[in-house]
Amino acid sequence: MQKDPIIGIDLGTTNSCAAVAAEDGSVKLIPYKGGDYTVPSIFAVDDKGNELIGHEAKRQWQLNPRNTIYGAKRLVGRSYKSDVVETMRKVVGYAVKPGDKDDVVIDVAHREYSLQEVSARILNKIRDVASNHLRTPVKRAVVTVPAYFNDRQRQTVKDAGKLIDLEVVRIINEPTAAALAYGVGKNLRETVVIYDLGGGTFDVSIIEIRDRVFEVKATGGDIFLGGIDFDNAVIHYVLSDFAAKTGIDLSGDPVAMQRIKDLAERTKCDLSTREEAPFSIPFITMTAQGQPLNIELKFTRRLLEELTTSLVDRTLQIVARVLVDSGVSTKAVDQVMLVGGQTRMPVVQQRLTRFFGKAPSKGVHPDEAVAIGAALYAHSLEDDTNLKLQLLDVIPMAIGLEKAGGAFHTVFARNAAIPNAKQLRATTSFDQQTELAVRIFQGDHEHVAHNDLLGEFTFSGIRPAPAGQVQVEITFDVNIEGILTMRAHDPDTGREMKTTVRVTQS
Ligand code: AMP
Repeated sequence: MQKDPIIGIDLGTTNSCAAVAAEDGSVKLIPYKGGDYTVPSIFAVDDKGNELIGHEAKRQWQLNPRNTIYGAKRLVGRSYKSDVVETMRKVVGYAVKPGDKDDVVIDVAHREYSLQEVSARILNKIRDVASNHLRTPVKRAVVTVPAYFNDRQRQTVKDAGKLIDLEVVRIINEPTAAALAYGVGKNLRETVVIYDLGGGTFDVSIIEIRDRVFEVKATGGDIFLGGIDFDNAVIHYVLSDFAAKTGIDLSGDPVAMQRIKDLAERTKCDLSTREEAPFSIPFITMTAQGQPLNIELKFTRRLLEELTTSLVDRTLQIVARVLVDSGVSTKAVDQVMLVGGQTRMPVVQQRLTRFFGKAPSKGVHPDEAVAIGAALYAHSLEDDTNLKLQLLDVIPMAIGLEKAGGAFHTVFARNAAIPNAKQLRATTSFDQQTELAVRIFQGDHEHVAHNDLLGEFTFSGIRPAPAGQVQVEITFDVNIEGILTMRAHDPDTGREMKTTVRVTQS
């Protein structure tokens, strides 16, 4: 084993997983106690004030829902006012509060945790498992993030690493990592589609593989489309059926709802391998006369498919748009790869087969591919021969600045290749102006109010002069990890200006 290994970490919404490459480039997943390869991405504080992470946290979740944080990845780098945060606040058992940097904090056992801190604890757990397994302290990692993560979300993951002295040497996108797991060492020339339908989100990327070069042509997705919506379709059907038969609406009964939710997900998964499954829950409620009532239904795969057609349609519409963005035709696609648990549903695979005219590849394990790809990339970073892997990625959403009246001025378009740099000139707008503030947003809407604020950059030290006489040349740099930096200088004097960044929504 190498002296100072760089591990690959798949920091997932539900589970996280790590892998490491041996000197010869072969990759192994890092086993957790009992041969399990994943650690639940859950953090909790128990009633004695002990911090619990992973399986220990998951085990006590039902008993301690207020102080058990799960699904935190969905909150990473988000503004408190965003739709995602609003939706999450309604469904999670823990308290999500506004932070002071237009972010969110989570209140656990009377202490506020930032998302950096929560992510840091999960990363630390994975690092500990890896250090024990490898019998050497792990100090460096390649960490994967969803392709749609914006600059702030990526920065949060890097900062989480800093908190625990884990150097996040590189952030790479999950679909790119899955493509690496599929394509490294095979000397391929292929265009692949990575179709990732997980628990809460959907994304798709088109990647061209030319031996060791992995070039993302386009990426897209929907952060509100995933397995949970399939569960909800089942739940909705069960509730309507029960109401039609009994006149009773169960949606306001939290205990009944929890039981229906659990069985809905289980039934959905069962129907991936069976044609029929019973849906029965005894004593779900009582009539006004005190008579116990049961749910007694039979679900077929066909019914599940009917209830969820529109969800599968939506994923295919996004696939079609991303194909257009990338200029790739369905015929030019050599492989369709599946990632994420919900892709186990047979109809998803059938619809993809029809759409592309070929069956999806079984070449990678949907749950393991991402960590393996990250480890392969980590290995390549240490490789100074010409066998190094080359990743050419894109930004998932446009990056730009706010113009007068709140309009969005695009600096980098959606799917612009990274690394990338652009320059823009501004002039002073009033006499003796010494500072220039620019608000930077990421998103695809023409009004900044609908996009995510990345930060407010203030350039100070501008030469005092009459309005319009001084120019400020601003350079925008998006690095290979999709992280933005900005600087400015005076093109007449060459003087660099001081840049400060603030992330607050004013
Ligand atoms: P992931 O985030 O990739 O772990 O995906 C989790 C989602 O996949 C959840 O919504 C699960 O209900 C769903 N899932 C897991 N196994 C199956 C299965 N066999 N059939 C259908 N959906 C599944």
